[in-house]
Amino acid sequence: MKEKFYVTTPIYYVNDKPHIGHAYTTIIADVLARYYRGKIGKENVFFLTGTDEHGAKIAEAAEKNNVSPQEFTDQISTLFKEAWKNLEIENDYFIRTTDDDHKKTVVDILKSLKEAKTPQGNDVLYEGEYEGLYCVGCEKFMTENDLVDGKCPDHNKEPEKLSEKNWFFKLGDFLPAIKQKIESGELIIYPEGRKKEVLGLIKQGMPDISISRSSKSVSWGIDIPWDDDQKTYVWVDALSNYITALGYPDGENFKKFWPADVHLMALEILKFHTLLWPAMLMAMDVELPKSMYVHGFFTIDGQKMSKTLGNVISPNELVEKYGAEVTKYLILSQFSFGSESDIKVEEFATKYNADLVNGLGNLVNRVTNMVEKYLDGKVDINIKDADLGGEEIKQLRFREALLTIWQIIKKGNGLIDETKPWVLAKDESNKDKLKEILEELTNDLYSVAISLKSFMPKTSEQIINILSADKITKPEKPLFPRL
Ligand SMILES: [Zn+2]
Repeated sequence: MKEKFYVTTPIYYVNDKPHIGHAYTTIIADVLARYYRGKIGKENVFFLTGTDEHGAKIAEAAEKNNVSPQEFTDQISTLFKEAWKNLEIENDYFIRTTDDDHKKTVVDILKSLKEAKTPQGNDVLYEGEYEGLYCVGCEKFMTENDLVDGKCPDHNKEPEKLSEKNWFFKLGDFLPAIKQKIESGELIIYPEGRKKEVLGLIKQGMPDISISRSSKSVSWGIDIPWDDDQKTYVWVDALSNYITALGYPDGENFKKFWPADVHLMALEILKFHTLLWPAMLMAMDVELPKSMYVHGFFTIDGQKMSKTLGNVISPNELVEKYGAEVTKYLILSQFSFGSESDIKVEEFATKYNADLVNGLGNLVNRVTNMVEKYLDGKVDINIKDADLGGEEIKQLRFREALLTIWQIIKKGNGLIDETKPWVLAKDESNKDKLKEILEELTNDLYSVAISLKSFMPKTSEQIINILSADKITKPEKPLFPRL
């Protein structure tokens, strides 16, 4: 077992309010963190999330809303914090790229990159002329290949032609070393298809990346310390958060938790995380993260999530309807990590009734009711498996972990239907058999409750309290009320 565990979500860009896609990544980080806290102790786990707050797009959005960029980012960042609080997410730290500590460390990182050499002995950073098509929405220069009918497909807007003096990062010099780390498994990229994609990009060769922008085109950002006319490219600023949050280079948390065990991310930021970030770290002589887990694009009931379609779901709405723990269950149980991620909102109510009301809730009711009635509330507890789905959680197979737990729930309800303990109870000669069945049911339910801790901590605690009482009694209210 690991001795420490450090998990990160991407920092979310504040041009958008928190939606269900952000919620998914944050929920899985939360499950991982809770799982490892249970295994290696709270003090040995660090779970980081936060918000990415610089760039032209943010300045534009602030202007549209008639507030300063700082006021704007304060507002949106608060929305993220509130959404995670509603979902009962327990992150250890929330970083904002407008934090003074972060900004200060990014300046130090830039200075050290300026001094650094590539494995081939070249300067890591050099001055160059950049000419290209720039999409403000994407915050990046685009190639002709990226465009559809001359427009950015994500923003349906023609990019602007931009030419300017920039500082460049000599990415090409690092690619052989990054390739070696990925192929040797020192840097895990999961799922396998994404790893192949990254190796394909390396094979094809990547252009150097410009890591600064003219202050004229980008005013909201961190100054390049040796060049007044330039602001730091938002990606260099953003990626650095994973170490600035730990107090790089001297902080206790950095010494204890780096390298990250798991960086979680969405598909669209794969390239920056798997190429630029490792190259930056190598240039600074810092160890690489151990793994990057990439999830797919989200769709809602089979359709792309978009403001125009009006199908963007706020996690707050779901929490209001179902509560935090049920919301987390409904989201994680629908699809496997890394696969196509279709959130079937239309099926939530049916799934709630089937899995929680008729599944887990019903089992708790039936078992406790019968133990109270037929065994005077007394059962010997011998827990069989307190880590149902644990192997799956470690592999980030959350849906599969829940299926493993729910198999035991189904088995329990099935055993009750089949053996009809209330019939057995009518005949004194069945006493031992009845006791045996109810003991098995209670112990299985106990295993379920403990194993649910990483997903549904309150529900888990509630069931454990019921089952560990001196005398087991049926709860006064059902755990999951019918909708
Ligand atoms: Zn765009």
